[in-house]
Amino acid sequence: MSKKKILYDGKAKTIFEGPTSDTVIQYFKDDATANNAEKHSIINGKGVLNNSISDYLMKKINEIGIPTHYIKKLNMREQLVRKVEIIPVEFVVRNIAAGSIVKRLGLKEGSVFSRPLIEHYLKKDELGDPLINEDHIVNFKWGTRDELDEMLEYGLRINDFLRGLFFGIGLKLVDFKIEFGRYYSEEGNSILLLADEISPDNCRLWDINTNKKMDKDLFRQELGGLKEAYQEVANRLGILPEKKKYSSTKPELVK
Ligand code: UDP
Repeated sequence: MSKKKILYDGKAKTIFEGPTSDTVIQYFKDDATANNAEKHSIINGKGVLNNSISDYLMKKINEIGIPTHYIKKLNMREQLVRKVEIIPVEFVVRNIAAGSIVKRLGLKEGSVFSRPLIEHYLKKDELGDPLINEDHIVNFKWGTRDELDEMLEYGLRINDFLRGLFFGIGLKLVDFKIEFGRYYSEEGNSILLLADEISPDNCRLWDINTNKKMDKDLFRQELGGLKEAYQEVANRLGILPEKKKYSSTKPELVK
């Protein structure tokens, strides 16, 4: 691991001081946590896979014109990103019912929403990240009305884009969580940037044909095979070395 100064040590990532005052380095760890860190394991290689997957997806999101904190991948586990002031709200977009909403509202897992459903959660581990609404966010000044409108627009565009991208590699994007931050320009203006990461740690991805889970639910639900699933997501995205690439043709039977 780097010898740079640690600014923040999170559950799945460590944030180090960057080479300039307006950058930081995100280091992807192998730690997997669930239920507000009640459940914890080390899954060798998870950080390397998430770094590659997030690197790929953030670059693509930048290319469709959504500003992100991403600058470049530095090595197997580190990315250089812009230093932002994180807005303390987790922004969840759902296409299909799964996870907490199933329990909270008594829904059937797998039912498809007629349109994407947006939820906000306060980023506060001590309170178990409670569900909040837009009025809480504006009232308690966690974000402004303008920021909320911008986050909503970005969230829906990211959802449309990622849904199509994952559909193209045989995966359903069930839901995902994103975070935004404020980047202050030299003139002191605040610019909203997509921050954090996008990986199977914070998306739900199901195989289109089998509905097999290919995300952190494998760990949450103790189903096993998390590393293999993340590796397959990376393979299907075409971001692993040639020989490991996912093949869409069925293997031939050896008689
Ligand atoms: N999620 C996340 N971090 C959190 C909570 C949720 O990345 O602290 C992601 C989760 O992986 C899923 C989506 O947000 O893709 C919706 O999660 P949900 O509210 O269903 O929560 P969970 O089932 O994790 O309790």
